[in-house]
Amino acid sequence: MKNKRLLVRHPAPFRTEGLVGYVLRLTEVNGYPTSHYMLADSRGYRAGDPISIQLLASMTNRTAKDLHSIARRPRNHKTALVLGQVISKAEMNMELAPVCPTCVREKGFMEAHFSLSLMTICPQHGLLLNVCPGCAKPLTWKRAGLLECNCGQLLCQAAEHQVSTAVVELLDIVRTKTLALPTRIESISGLPVCALGSMSLRSLLFLIRSLGRRCVGDSGKSDSSMEKTKIVEVAAQGYSVRKREAHFSTSETDDPP
Ligand SMILES: [Zn+2]
Ligand SMILES: [Zn+2]
Repeated sequence: MKNKRLLVRHPAPFRTEGLVGYVLRLTEVNGYPTSHYMLADSRGYRAGDPISIQLLASMTNRTAKDLHSIARRPRNHKTALVLGQVISKAEMNMELAPVCPTCVREKGFMEAHFSLSLMTICPQHGLLLNVCPGCAKPLTWKRAGLLECNCGQLLCQAAEHQVSTAVVELLDIVRTKTLALPTRIESISGLPVCALGSMSLRSLLFLIRSLGRRCVGDSGKSDSSMEKTKIVEVAAQGYSVRKREAHFSTSETDDPP
């Protein structure tokens, strides 16, 4: 790895930053036209290769162990990793890299939960850009920066998505689990937050997808953003309705008309 090109600027990843966000931030601060170009310029990358932690370590004057926390590929390659947590490989965006512009402006980096395919909006701001508003192409990790598409379009604006409180709260639980932050203890929409918050991230994602799919049906296009949005919406409503019904029947017993 000694002959790999060291980047001029090589800041350390933030604790809650994901691999793709880190690569895009390095691309930006070093002034490369695209992240793909930056990796190719390192002399250790071939088109089509996954992002290698070893290569990234040599480019940023670190050891692979230093970057272990943001690795996406465990040894067996049958699962995926997000900030050290094992999840099903199918739950990870490997090429796509949607972004919440407000998060990046506020925090200066992209948090790791945006690499989960069920993260259909940012639960903090109600936004998510999946497609470039300039060229209409899907946003992938091979772009010019966190907030810049390869076509030159800046990704600073996104329309707010109208979603239910239950979806926001459910995705907030996914976010906090991913980032190892304290999960919420109360829910306006009636989600069983304690039960959901105590699950592993892998089980939580599996449960959302299973419940959503059972109600929506599997059209075979589970990767389309519309399908994922439906799955998350149905799962969130399913959990909150169950809780409300339980609460309603208790109230009836406790306080009859
Ligand atoms: Zn956000
Ligand atoms: Zn574009």
